[in-house]
This record gives sequence, C-alpha cells and structure tokens, in this order.
Amino acid sequence: MTNDSARTRRPALSPSRAGDFKQCPLLYRFRAVDRLPETPTKAQVRGTVVHSVLERLFTLPVSERDREHAHELLRPAWREIRDEQPELGELFGDETELADWLERAGGLLDSYFELEDPRRLDPESCELRVETELDSGVLLRGFVDRVDVAPTGEIRLVDYKTGAAPREVGEGKALFQMKFYALVLWRSRGELPRQLLLMYLADKQSLAYTPDEDELRRFERTLDAIWQAILRAGRTGDFRPNPSRLCDYCDHKPLCPAHGGTPPPYPGWPEPEPGTETLLDRTD
Ligand code: SF4
Repeated sequence: MTNDSARTRRPALSPSRAGDFKQCPLLYRFRAVDRLPETPTKAQVRGTVVHSVLERLFTLPVSERDREHAHELLRPAWREIRDEQPELGELFGDETELADWLERAGGLLDSYFELEDPRRLDPESCELRVETELDSGVLLRGFVDRVDVAPTGEIRLVDYKTGAAPREVGEGKALFQMKFYALVLWRSRGELPRQLLLMYLADKQSLAYTPDEDELRRFERTLDAIWQAILRAGRTGDFRPNPSRLCDYCDHKPLCPAHGGTPPPYPGWPEPEPGTETLLDRTD
C-alpha cells in the first residue's frame, strides 16, 4: 500500500474492471472509460447492505457480535446507503416489498452466523482499501472485505459473497478476485497470505484456497498482459464487443453494436487529473 497521493490518481486495475475486460472489452470501455451509469439490482444493493452490516458488526464489543445486533444494524445500514443514493428507494414499490427484501438480507446474516462466530475473531481490518504497483508499472487497487491476522502473523483474506455458490464462471471469477488481493497483499507487505476464504452466505458454504508463490507470479503476468491489452485498446478506442449469454445482464446492450446499437463517440483514454480517481469503483 502506498501513501503517495500522486499515485492514487493514476489509472489502476481492479478485479472487477479486469474481469470486465476479459469478459468483453466494450463492456470495460462503457464502465471504466465512458463511465456510463448503471441501475443496480435489488440483489446487488442487498449485497452492499449485508457487507456494511458485517463491517459494522466488528466495530461492536465482542459480546455484542450476535445475530440480534446484526439484525438491528440492517435498517440503519440500508437507510445510510439510500441517503447516499436516493434513487435506490425507487427499487421498492411499497413498504411491504422493502420489508421482504430486508428479511432476505437478514437471512443472509443468519447464514453468516452459521458459518462462523464473529466473537472468536479479531480482524485486523474490514473493507480494507489495498493498492500496489507491480514491477511492470501496473497499479492494482481494490477493497478486501476482511483481513484476519493470526498471532503467528499468518494472513487470511476473507470475502463475503451474497449470491449463490460458484458454478463454472462464478468460481473462476471469485478465484480471480481473491488471487488479485493475495497478490496485492503479498507485493505490498511482503507476506504471502496463508489462506483465501470465500464465504457464500446464500448457500452457507465456504471455499478456502491456499495460494502459492509460483501461481501468484503467473497471475501477475496475466494481470500485466490484461493491462497491456487495455492500454492498447485505450490508445485506439478499439474496444471490441464479445457477445455471450452474459449480454442479457448488460445494462449497455442498447448501445452495443453486437446487438444493433451504436456506442457514444469514444471520449479518449482518461488522463488522471488532480484530485480524481480513475478506473476504480467499489464493485469487487
Ligand atoms: S451487450 Fe454483450 S457484447 Fe455488448 S457490451 Fe454488453 S457484454 Fe459486451
């Protein structure tokens, strides 16, 4: 991690954006370069609320880290997020719909308590913003849900998933994200995380993974290659669509030439400006 404020303004690679480019270069352009707005789904907002509650849970005294207190944190967390983005209130037709949605969020919290007991944990940090620069000059950034450090110094990275457990594409994406964070921690602290733990709350399942140095070195080369490909496309504006079944979930389908649309004029590769951050959002 760096405190160099000049660096924090440089274009960086996050797991979400790297994943976008791998899935579809044009999707990357729409999100990271054009920065077109997207409408979050109820499931995505529920994920944000549950993450927020789990973060707050670890700020409570150990004896209060129980289901009841977690449930009490739900509505305040939702209100805070809605106050920041009032348009999210329009996702719900009436109070009953909102109550049902919150109840499902509460169900995810119940699942969390079946997977672990937060009273037995003392995380080093929650929602940790991490950043590092690879030797090749690629700047990596992202947020880790939780970092646990054992008394022996071993690091465990934890990621909460509020969707269903991984199947094919999902598992690959989740491991890509966790390897990304493992690499950032390793390169910034010089300590290889001992374990990456994915907690799938909807299915009450955990997936633990132990990274090794050779694998992370290979992964580092993969990220370099992705970033070089992004820069090449960024210089020319040649971000090609890569149609797949995931197009059905793409907010920008009406603008996509693969579906008969016309993208807006290419705005050019973003130059970092003082006081701004680029190519990073909190969707990891
Ligand atoms: S609709 Fe499909 S091909 Fe087009 S930008 Fe979206 S993901 Fe890419």
